[in-house]
Amino acid sequence: MQLGRALRIVLKCSPKLALGNIICLLIQGVIPLISLYLIKLIIDEVTVGLSIADKSSSFNHVLMLVIIAGGVAVISIICNLSARLLGESHSLIVTDHIQRILHSKSIEIDLNYYENPQYYNTLHRAQQEAPYRPNHIFNGLIQVAQSSVSAAAMLFLMFRFHWIVTVAVFVAVLPEIYVKLKFSGKLYNWQRRVTQDDRKSRYYGWILSTYAYAKEIRLFNLGSLFLKRYADLRGKLRTERLKISRDRSLAELFTQTVGVLVVFGSYGFIVYRAIHGKITIGDLVMYFQAFRQAVSYLRNILNGVAGLYEDNPFLNNLFEFLDLKPIVVDPIKPVPVPSPIKDGVVFNSVSFQYPSIARSALDDVSIRFNPGEVTALVGKNGSGKTTLIKLLCRLYDPSTGSVTIDGVDLREFNTVELRGRISVLFQDYVRYQMMVNENIWLSDTTEPLDLDRIKNAAQSAEIEEVINRLPNGFETVLGKWFDDSVELSEGEWQKIAFARTLNKDAQIVILDEPTSAMDAETEHEIFRRLKPLVRDKIIILISHRFSTVRAADRIYILDGGRISEQGSHEELLRQNGYYARLFRERSELYL
Ligand code: ADP
Repeated sequence: MQLGRALRIVLKCSPKLALGNIICLLIQGVIPLISLYLIKLIIDEVTVGLSIADKSSSFNHVLMLVIIAGGVAVISIICNLSARLLGESHSLIVTDHIQRILHSKSIEIDLNYYENPQYYNTLHRAQQEAPYRPNHIFNGLIQVAQSSVSAAAMLFLMFRFHWIVTVAVFVAVLPEIYVKLKFSGKLYNWQRRVTQDDRKSRYYGWILSTYAYAKEIRLFNLGSLFLKRYADLRGKLRTERLKISRDRSLAELFTQTVGVLVVFGSYGFIVYRAIHGKITIGDLVMYFQAFRQAVSYLRNILNGVAGLYEDNPFLNNLFEFLDLKPIVVDPIKPVPVPSPIKDGVVFNSVSFQYPSIARSALDDVSIRFNPGEVTALVGKNGSGKTTLIKLLCRLYDPSTGSVTIDGVDLREFNTVELRGRISVLFQDYVRYQMMVNENIWLSDTTEPLDLDRIKNAAQSAEIEEVINRLPNGFETVLGKWFDDSVELSEGEWQKIAFARTLNKDAQIVILDEPTSAMDAETEHEIFRRLKPLVRDKIIILISHRFSTVRAADRIYILDGGRISEQGSHEELLRQNGYYARLFRERSELYL
């Protein structure tokens, strides 16, 4: 069981609140017994009072007992309210704490975690459940502990009456709990089994109500198709779920009937002894109540234990996630990253295989990226261009071979420092639902937000005019998630991302399809502006557009993870290989 570890996290979040909770719990645990005993004393006193002449002394006695019982009730209220407040504070702290450790872990782990669906599926569940589970466990334990104190007190009382009634308490509760455990196990297994269908149905629901899909749904008239798929899946899930609930109700009908028979049988026994003068009327009331409460506390304990048992699989997922060790790790004594880079970035016979697939994504690749040069990577989809960039940013390490900067292996550098020298415009760049200036600033938050610098970047990315026309200029919130935000077109978003890339003063600048959503004229203008920025930088360009690629100093053609051709535009045309053929085909298209 991972319970101990979860409990440690919960207790460590706020030891004081935890202690407060425990004290309340102990007091609450014994209060029911004290109350019951006081009621017995009151009734016995009243019974005596009925048969004696000195009514006033008897009344004074009873009054005293009633006042004490009232005091105990007030203490109970104070305890309950304090426990509620303490519990709520603790629960909020725990939730935020767990969320924080999860978030920290989410940025620490390798990119591979996000790119491997099987891995992602299992652990995603932990991420979803984890924020409330440990707290659920904490409350479960409190419930078990408090009920145990109260149940022990009540059972002790019952045992004093007769051992057989103590056994009856267990007989009344155990079958019920057995059924509960059995069916919660069934439900849990069913939920695991249908996770895929459940997610699929949610996916259909999401398609039907999400902007990104809205155009195609209307154009291809897909609405009724997805509605039907959604309804079919939900119907299937509903029928299965209801069958489990029906079976459970039948089983509960049986166990609860047994429970009721045992309870009333025991009541009969208590009444029998009272009629035969073996116990007083006060005892009768006390034992009636104690029996009822013992059943209820025992039920609470067993329910609590069942709940804790259900939490365990989720804890396993959570701790499996928290125990993940990143493969890409920093060296103990990192070497400073050369600044400026003089010799260049070199891939030495690099091969790389994604953990989830058997085929190599890169196969014996040797490339050199020189400072002051624009190097272009060309190749079909899936030829390994993006993988190469991921290795250069050290999001993964090569399976064999090495990547070096000025002769030093990337694994010798601190990754944060290394990535600090690289700026990338990814193909799937992020559209931050934040202000324009923040969208551009986010590439380098080590410096405070400097509007002049941001404007420069915006100008180089050919987006400044568009920004100036926005309602709040550089302070306009972009996207459509928040109030008063403005949505941009694909091309405009790409230019914002481009400005972000340029805002970072990095020596290695990587542009992955930087102009795919832009028109040819803008693209030309951008590259005209980019040229003077190159100076001693290493610019790596991935593009399908020959107008962009041909201006590069060196072009590498990737094919199935291997370098098949390399050279300048003219050299490659002379080689008359894949590049030349592609260039001729494209030129014909534009004739
Ligand atoms: P490109 O950028 O040239 O389109 P990629 O570098 O993205 O190509 O992909 C190279 C190969 O690696 C492809 O076969 C692709 O399917 C595979 N691949 C890419 N990313 C992953 C991943 N995260 N997990 C497994 N395989 C991947």
